[in-house]
Amino acid sequence: MPSTSIQSFFSSSSPTKSIPGDGFTPEEMVLSTNTSDWIPTLEYEEVTIGYLEPGPGNITFMGRIVNFYNMPKPSKRPKSAQGCVRIMLADDTGTMTVRLWHANIPWGSMLKLGMLVTVWTVHVSRGSSEQMSLAPTAAPLFTTIFPEGERSCHFMVHEKSDEGKMFKRPFGSKDSVPLPGLMTLENFTNGGYDVDDCKLLVCVKSIGAKKNYIMKDGNTSDLISVGIFDETADAFLTLYGSLSNSASSWTPSHTVLLIANPSWKIDRAAKLSFNANTQLYIDPDMADARYVRALAQRLTKKEHINPPYPKGVFDVEAAETAAMRVLYKLSEIDEFARANPRDKVMGYISVLITEVHIVINHKRNMLMSAECCGLPMFANAVQAKCRQCEKWSPLRINPRILGNVIDETGQISSGKLIFSDDAWEQLLGRTAQQLVTAPLDVIKYLEHRLFFLRLTFGFGFHLGDDEVGRLVIWCVKM
Ligand SMILES: [Zn+2]
Repeated sequence: MPSTSIQSFFSSSSPTKSIPGDGFTPEEMVLSTNTSDWIPTLEYEEVTIGYLEPGPGNITFMGRIVNFYNMPKPSKRPKSAQGCVRIMLADDTGTMTVRLWHANIPWGSMLKLGMLVTVWTVHVSRGSSEQMSLAPTAAPLFTTIFPEGERSCHFMVHEKSDEGKMFKRPFGSKDSVPLPGLMTLENFTNGGYDVDDCKLLVCVKSIGAKKNYIMKDGNTSDLISVGIFDETADAFLTLYGSLSNSASSWTPSHTVLLIANPSWKIDRAAKLSFNANTQLYIDPDMADARYVRALAQRLTKKEHINPPYPKGVFDVEAAETAAMRVLYKLSEIDEFARANPRDKVMGYISVLITEVHIVINHKRNMLMSAECCGLPMFANAVQAKCRQCEKWSPLRINPRILGNVIDETGQISSGKLIFSDDAWEQLLGRTAQQLVTAPLDVIKYLEHRLFFLRLTFGFGFHLGDDEVGRLVIWCVKM
């Protein structure tokens, strides 16, 4: 029944042919117009996905992509559809399926999970059990559109206008009510995967390199393995084919994923992947998601070996030209932070460096450091390749080349100061590049020169959301 109505909708292109399924073959769908400058010719009613009803009607709705599957169906006939992407779209009220046929626009390689889109269509159908391929049970209502061939329908991705605020409350979640089926990774691994509508809320831990694999039909495709975790366990989410592009905007220790109904394989860690009913929501606006992210950031903050210099937090130019330059004792900064946890302070400290570890770090190939995918990287080089994602990252000078820094009132332990690149250059008298290429006798001389040297540091301090504030050093005066 639904397929006949779809057929009649598309019958203008080919009234005679009819096949089961969508009701048309790619050959039947002939490109008629360029849709890049689409102007609606009909009036469309704005609807919410949860209130959609099957049947004809000119409607438009928005949602985020929570699952999609690319089905190339190459046709040699010019101007014919070359394939279809089956997209599951969700707003805060429900999910539905969009079967997006395309010819010249390679939607399969352009879409990403989480994208905000608007659909204009003139018909909605309900998938039946015989037509599981048309729409999965998690989103049985579907619409079939071919925007390049049919002016009455359209598909638009909002990339620039997406402020990341709309449709961030999956399943209509409210902070006061626990989300049905939500469980920890540990509970999932111990049998929770059998629960209908099981949901996992996890943080991204690492993003692997894109890898090639050979499919059953002999063709190759891409996959990417994403490390995920919550407070109970670690696991992996593998994204196959077109889905593998979606992880490019995710950030380890920051991006939170709500995954509903994943496919799974339990090895030492759970290995999750997508099936037709899986839904994935990125950074949902829920109390539980905020908890997961806070947990992740606490974990990584403790471990971060070389936190980046915070750009834009301190007005260095204003401090440099200020009429009054205040010299603080270390104990006074401590008192200030306790008394004014929300305020920023900038000033100067006069300190001694009690130990210098440049030579030993040079010998260990650890003069520079950074983190990627939550893993530490060290090298006597200005960049290094991550063992996890195989991407190159710039390295910064390892703060542990300095031991404890003291004044008459207190001390700061090794590695706790965050120097700007300028401050490092002023302290060492050379750039990072010059440091890593310096011969050993220069390294030895440098270590000797800094040892117990009285220095003035321009510092900034701001607790912000941090529980443990660190002193930021923006200039060094000898
Ligand atoms: Zn990495």
